Amino acid sequence: MKIAFFGAEGKAGAAIVRRLEAAEHEVRGIELGDEPDVQGCDAAVDFTTPAAAPGNVRAALDQGVSCVVGTTGWDPDELGALAAQKGLRLFVAPNFSTGAVLMMRFAREAAAHFPRAEIVELHNEAKKDAPSGTAKTTADLIGGSPAIHSVRLPGLVAHQEVIFGSEGQLLTIRHDTTGRESFADGVLLALQKLPELPPGLTFGLETLIS
Ligand code: NAP
Repeated sequence: MKIAFFGAEGKAGAAIVRRLEAAEHEVRGIELGDEPDVQGCDAAVDFTTPAAAPGNVRAALDQGVSCVVGTTGWDPDELGALAAQKGLRLFVAPNFSTGAVLMMRFAREAAAHFPRAEIVELHNEAKKDAPSGTAKTTADLIGGSPAIHSVRLPGLVAHQEVIFGSEGQLLTIRHDTTGRESFADGVLLALQKLPELPPGLTFGLETLIS
Protein backbone atom coordinates (compact mmCIF):
# COMPACT_ATOMS: atom_id res chain seq x y z
CA MET A 1 0.00 0.00 0.00
CA LYS A 2 1.00 3.65 -0.43
CA ILE A 3 0.81 5.23 3.02
CA ALA A 4 1.01 8.91 3.97
CA PHE A 5 2.54 9.07 7.47
CA PHE A 6 2.07 12.11 9.73
CA GLY A 7 4.76 12.06 12.43
CA ALA A 8 7.10 9.67 10.60
CA GLU A 9 10.10 11.11 12.47
CA GLY A 10 8.57 10.93 15.93
CA LYS A 11 9.54 8.25 18.45
CA ALA A 12 6.56 5.99 17.70
CA GLY A 13 6.37 7.01 14.03
CA ALA A 14 9.99 6.15 13.22
CA ALA A 15 9.70 2.67 14.75
CA ILE A 16 6.40 1.99 12.96
CA VAL A 17 7.66 3.28 9.59
CA ARG A 18 10.60 0.84 9.77
CA ARG A 19 8.16 -2.05 10.19
CA LEU A 20 5.79 -0.77 7.46
CA GLU A 21 8.67 -0.52 5.00
CA ALA A 22 9.92 -3.97 5.98
CA ALA A 23 6.41 -5.23 5.14
CA GLU A 24 6.88 -3.64 1.67
CA HIS A 25 4.50 -0.71 2.16
CA GLU A 26 5.54 2.52 0.43
CA VAL A 27 5.63 5.32 3.04
CA ARG A 28 5.42 9.06 2.32
CA GLY A 29 6.46 10.95 5.46
CA ILE A 30 4.59 14.22 5.99
CA GLU A 31 6.31 16.45 8.51
CA LEU A 32 5.09 19.49 10.43
CA GLY A 33 4.93 22.49 8.09
CA ASP A 34 4.56 20.36 4.96
CA GLU A 35 1.47 20.94 2.80
CA PRO A 36 -0.43 17.77 3.76
CA ASP A 37 -0.56 16.25 0.28
CA VAL A 38 -1.83 12.68 0.55
CA GLN A 39 -3.15 12.41 -3.03
CA GLY A 40 -2.65 8.96 -4.49
CA CYS A 41 -2.17 7.30 -1.09
CA ASP A 42 -4.28 4.29 -0.06
CA ALA A 43 -4.35 5.36 3.60
CA ALA A 44 -2.94 7.98 5.99
CA VAL A 45 -1.46 7.18 9.41
CA ASP A 46 -1.09 9.77 12.21
CA PHE A 47 1.17 9.56 15.28
CA THR A 48 1.66 13.28 16.02
CA THR A 49 0.07 15.41 18.75
CA PRO A 50 -3.52 15.96 19.91
CA ALA A 51 -3.29 19.50 18.49
CA ALA A 52 -2.10 18.35 15.05
CA ALA A 53 -4.02 15.10 14.50
CA PRO A 54 -7.52 16.55 13.78
CA GLY A 55 -6.16 18.89 11.06
CA ASN A 56 -4.14 16.07 9.49
CA VAL A 57 -7.12 13.72 9.50
CA ARG A 58 -9.41 16.39 8.02
CA ALA A 59 -6.87 17.10 5.25
CA ALA A 60 -6.63 13.38 4.43
CA LEU A 61 -10.41 12.89 4.43
CA ASP A 62 -10.84 15.99 2.23
CA GLN A 63 -8.47 14.32 -0.25
CA GLY A 64 -10.51 11.10 -0.17
CA VAL A 65 -8.05 9.10 1.95
CA SER A 66 -9.06 6.92 4.93
CA CYS A 67 -7.05 7.21 8.16
CA VAL A 68 -5.48 5.11 10.93
CA VAL A 69 -4.70 7.20 14.02
CA GLY A 70 -2.65 6.39 17.12
CA THR A 71 -2.42 9.93 18.50
CA THR A 72 -4.18 10.07 21.87
CA GLY A 73 -5.91 12.95 23.67
CA TRP A 74 -8.42 14.20 21.06
CA ASP A 75 -12.07 13.45 20.31
CA PRO A 76 -12.53 11.72 16.94
CA ASP A 77 -16.38 11.79 16.87
CA GLU A 78 -16.77 14.83 14.62
CA LEU A 79 -14.23 13.61 12.05
CA GLY A 80 -15.76 10.13 12.26
CA ALA A 81 -19.05 11.69 11.12
CA LEU A 82 -17.24 13.50 8.28
CA ALA A 83 -15.60 10.21 7.22
CA ALA A 84 -19.02 8.49 7.22
CA GLN A 85 -20.46 11.27 5.06
CA LYS A 86 -17.64 10.76 2.56
CA GLY A 87 -17.84 6.95 2.61
CA LEU A 88 -14.31 6.80 4.13
CA ARG A 89 -12.90 5.05 7.21
CA LEU A 90 -11.38 6.57 10.34
CA PHE A 91 -9.78 3.99 12.60
CA VAL A 92 -8.53 5.26 15.99
CA ALA A 93 -6.91 3.19 18.74
CA PRO A 94 -5.38 4.42 22.01
CA ASN A 95 -3.22 1.27 22.15
CA PHE A 96 -1.88 -0.37 18.98
CA SER A 97 0.01 -3.09 20.82
CA THR A 98 -1.78 -6.39 20.12
CA GLY A 99 -0.35 -7.93 23.30
CA ALA A 100 -1.80 -5.18 25.50
CA VAL A 101 -5.23 -5.60 23.94
CA LEU A 102 -5.10 -9.36 24.52
CA MET A 103 -3.90 -8.78 28.11
CA MET A 104 -7.03 -6.68 28.73
CA ARG A 105 -9.26 -9.28 27.12
CA PHE A 106 -7.78 -12.12 29.23
CA ALA A 107 -8.04 -9.98 32.37
CA ARG A 108 -11.74 -9.40 31.73
CA GLU A 109 -12.22 -13.14 31.30
CA ALA A 110 -10.32 -13.94 34.53
CA ALA A 111 -12.26 -11.33 36.50
CA ALA A 112 -15.38 -13.48 36.34
CA HIS A 113 -13.56 -16.18 38.36
CA PHE A 114 -11.68 -14.18 41.03
CA PRO A 115 -13.11 -11.99 43.80
CA ARG A 116 -10.15 -9.56 43.97
CA ALA A 117 -7.64 -8.00 41.60
CA GLU A 118 -5.00 -5.29 41.65
CA ILE A 119 -3.19 -3.66 38.72
CA VAL A 120 0.50 -2.74 38.63
CA GLU A 121 1.51 -0.54 35.70
CA LEU A 122 5.17 0.28 35.17
CA HIS A 123 6.51 2.90 32.75
CA ASN A 124 9.64 4.87 32.02
CA GLU A 125 10.11 7.93 34.21
CA ALA A 126 9.43 10.16 31.15
CA LYS A 127 5.74 9.25 31.30
CA LYS A 128 4.15 12.05 33.27
CA ASP A 129 0.55 10.81 33.66
CA ALA A 130 -0.42 8.15 36.16
CA PRO A 131 -2.24 5.85 36.17
CA SER A 132 -1.85 5.00 32.48
CA GLY A 133 -4.84 5.02 30.12
CA THR A 134 -4.41 1.27 29.61
CA ALA A 135 -4.55 0.66 33.39
CA LYS A 136 -7.75 2.74 33.68
CA THR A 137 -9.33 0.89 30.75
CA THR A 138 -8.35 -2.45 32.30
CA ALA A 139 -9.88 -1.41 35.62
CA ASP A 140 -13.14 -0.48 33.85
CA LEU A 141 -13.17 -3.78 31.98
CA ILE A 142 -12.68 -5.97 35.06
CA GLY A 143 -14.92 -3.85 37.30
CA GLY A 144 -14.96 -3.65 41.10
CA SER A 145 -12.60 -0.61 41.24
CA PRO A 146 -9.28 -2.52 41.56
CA ALA A 147 -6.34 -0.64 43.11
CA ILE A 148 -3.87 0.62 40.50
CA HIS A 149 -0.17 0.92 41.44
CA SER A 150 1.95 3.13 39.17
CA VAL A 151 5.73 2.71 38.96
CA ARG A 152 7.91 5.26 37.08
CA LEU A 153 11.58 4.30 36.78
CA PRO A 154 14.41 4.60 34.24
CA GLY A 155 14.97 1.29 32.47
CA LEU A 156 11.27 0.53 32.10
CA VAL A 157 9.43 0.88 28.76
CA ALA A 158 5.69 0.05 29.24
CA HIS A 159 4.54 -2.91 31.32
CA GLN A 160 1.38 -3.94 33.12
CA GLU A 161 0.34 -6.83 35.29
CA VAL A 162 -3.09 -7.68 36.56
CA ILE A 163 -2.91 -9.87 39.67
CA PHE A 164 -6.01 -11.85 40.62
CA GLY A 165 -6.32 -13.43 44.05
CA SER A 166 -8.66 -15.87 45.73
CA GLU A 167 -8.24 -18.29 48.65
CA GLY A 168 -5.11 -20.37 47.94
CA GLN A 169 -4.36 -19.13 44.42
CA LEU A 170 -3.04 -16.21 42.42
CA LEU A 171 -3.24 -15.56 38.69
CA THR A 172 -0.99 -12.94 37.07
CA ILE A 173 -1.58 -11.68 33.53
CA ARG A 174 1.35 -9.58 32.35
CA HIS A 175 2.24 -7.69 29.20
CA ASP A 176 5.65 -6.13 28.48
CA THR A 177 6.29 -3.61 25.73
CA THR A 178 10.03 -3.77 25.10
CA GLY A 179 10.10 -1.52 22.03
CA ARG A 180 7.91 0.92 20.09
CA GLU A 181 8.02 -1.49 17.14
CA SER A 182 5.23 -3.35 18.98
CA PHE A 183 2.75 -0.65 17.90
CA ALA A 184 3.39 -1.60 14.25
CA ASP A 185 1.59 -4.94 14.72
CA GLY A 186 -1.67 -3.09 15.36
CA VAL A 187 -1.05 -0.51 12.64
CA LEU A 188 -0.37 -3.26 10.07
CA LEU A 189 -3.55 -5.04 11.14
CA ALA A 190 -5.62 -1.84 10.93
CA LEU A 191 -4.26 -1.05 7.45
CA GLN A 192 -5.07 -4.57 6.29
CA LYS A 193 -8.64 -4.43 7.68
CA LEU A 194 -9.35 -0.79 6.78
CA PRO A 195 -11.18 -1.50 3.48
CA GLU A 196 -13.51 -3.99 5.22
CA LEU A 197 -14.56 -1.56 7.98
CA PRO A 198 -17.85 0.32 7.77
CA PRO A 199 -17.52 3.98 6.71
CA GLY A 200 -17.04 6.36 9.66
CA LEU A 201 -15.30 5.88 12.99
CA THR A 202 -14.10 2.53 14.32
CA PHE A 203 -12.49 2.82 17.79
CA GLY A 204 -10.11 0.39 19.49
CA LEU A 205 -7.84 -2.41 18.29
CA GLU A 206 -10.02 -4.94 20.12
CA THR A 207 -12.64 -4.44 17.37
CA LEU A 208 -10.17 -6.00 14.87
CA ILE A 209 -8.94 -8.93 16.97
CA SER A 210 -11.47 -11.77 17.05
P1 NAP B 1 6.90 12.42 19.36
O1 NAP B 1 8.20 11.67 19.42
O2 NAP B 1 6.84 13.80 19.95
O3 NAP B 1 6.48 12.47 17.83
C1 NAP B 1 5.49 13.30 17.30
C2 NAP B 1 5.94 13.68 15.89
O4 NAP B 1 4.86 14.35 15.22
C3 NAP B 1 7.14 14.64 15.89
O5 NAP B 1 8.08 14.15 14.93
C4 NAP B 1 6.51 15.95 15.45
O6 NAP B 1 7.40 16.76 14.72
C5 NAP B 1 5.42 15.44 14.52
N1 NAP B 1 4.36 16.42 14.26
C6 NAP B 1 3.82 17.33 15.11
N2 NAP B 1 2.85 18.02 14.48
C7 NAP B 1 2.78 17.54 13.21
C8 NAP B 1 2.00 17.85 12.07
N3 NAP B 1 1.06 18.82 12.11
N4 NAP B 1 2.18 17.14 10.94
C9 NAP B 1 3.11 16.19 10.86
N5 NAP B 1 3.92 15.86 11.92
C10 NAP B 1 3.75 16.52 13.06
O7 NAP B 1 5.74 11.60 20.06
P2 NAP B 1 5.52 10.01 20.08
O8 NAP B 1 5.99 9.45 21.35
O9 NAP B 1 6.01 9.42 18.80
O10 NAP B 1 3.91 9.97 20.15
C11 NAP B 1 3.12 10.55 19.14
C12 NAP B 1 1.65 10.35 19.49
O11 NAP B 1 1.33 8.98 19.38
C13 NAP B 1 1.26 10.75 20.94
O12 NAP B 1 -0.05 11.27 20.94
C14 NAP B 1 1.27 9.43 21.67
O13 NAP B 1 0.39 9.43 22.79
C15 NAP B 1 0.75 8.53 20.59
N6 NAP B 1 1.09 7.12 20.72
C16 NAP B 1 0.07 6.24 20.60
C17 NAP B 1 0.33 4.88 20.63
C18 NAP B 1 -0.79 3.92 20.43
O14 NAP B 1 -0.58 2.72 20.58
N7 NAP B 1 -1.99 4.40 20.09
C19 NAP B 1 1.65 4.43 20.81
C20 NAP B 1 2.67 5.38 20.92
C21 NAP B 1 2.38 6.73 20.88
P3 NAP B 1 8.31 17.84 15.50
O15 NAP B 1 9.21 17.06 16.38
O16 NAP B 1 8.99 18.54 14.38
O17 NAP B 1 7.37 18.71 16.28
